[in-house]
Amino acid sequence: MAVLAGLAGLCLAGALAWTSLRPDTGRDAGRAAGTSAGPEAGASPARSGDGRGEGRDRPGKRAPLHGAVVVLDPGHNPTNREHPRAIARQVDAGTHRKACDTTGTATNSGYPEAEFTLDVARRARALLEDRGATVVFTQDGDRPHGPCVDERARIGNAAKADAVVSVHADGAGEGQRGFHVILPAEVHAGTADTRAVTAPSRRLGEHLADRFAAATGTRPAAYLGPDTADTGLTVRDDLGGLNLTTVPKVFLECGNMRDARDAARFTDPAWRQRAALGVADGVTAFLTTPG
Ligand code: ZN
Repeated sequence: MAVLAGLAGLCLAGALAWTSLRPDTGRDAGRAAGTSAGPEAGASPARSGDGRGEGRDRPGKRAPLHGAVVVLDPGHNPTNREHPRAIARQVDAGTHRKACDTTGTATNSGYPEAEFTLDVARRARALLEDRGATVVFTQDGDRPHGPCVDERARIGNAAKADAVVSVHADGAGEGQRGFHVILPAEVHAGTADTRAVTAPSRRLGEHLADRFAAATGTRPAAYLGPDTADTGLTVRDDLGGLNLTTVPKVFLECGNMRDARDAARFTDPAWRQRAALGVADGVTAFLTTPG
């Protein structure tokens, strides 16, 4: 979440790793912002699915998430740093105005949060689509900057998403480790009214924290107080992306990019796959467990 300026020229290892993992990325190029076809759209040649690649089997109506719409919001944008004026523009955050977006943070060795969030979200999309969900991205590395936080919220709302997960990694101090899930506070002021979504968002967050811990083997962050250390959950009323949501939504901070041990995880593609599994399992549990 933290702002870090001057990231130009940093390592793009995440993008390269992703390209080699999923060579068909281009087929999804027009899918941000609700243009996705349904999971059963079109015929596909039979192939035992490995979760990615052209021609994989389309999950049918018996898939566990058939009919569900999941919006994944990869935090920041890898090229925000090239558009400082655009992302500094003030936009509505529900109860106040704030910057459109930020560059995001990075590991000390220069792996940007925005590359990490895109990679984890893309991996989670593959898993969720295999389970039958329709997955919409707020951005897929396919626009020069943003979207702004208010547009990120609107994309989830317009998709009538059953669940939205905004994927991030924190920029706290060295030695501060672990993940946390941010829930929307109950806010009814300005253009914000989260009263209808605080309860389902909490259920989504609880499932996500539980499954993310299980999938990654990591612990909740201890640097946000004892409650978060116990539950992996925290509540905020200052995030436009949460204040403006009308559908169940949480933010996931996968860990702290500024901690060397967490950073070592983030730069490992195998760990990012486990993180994505945690996201997919958390969303799946939320959508398939009676409230
Ligand atoms: Zn962030």
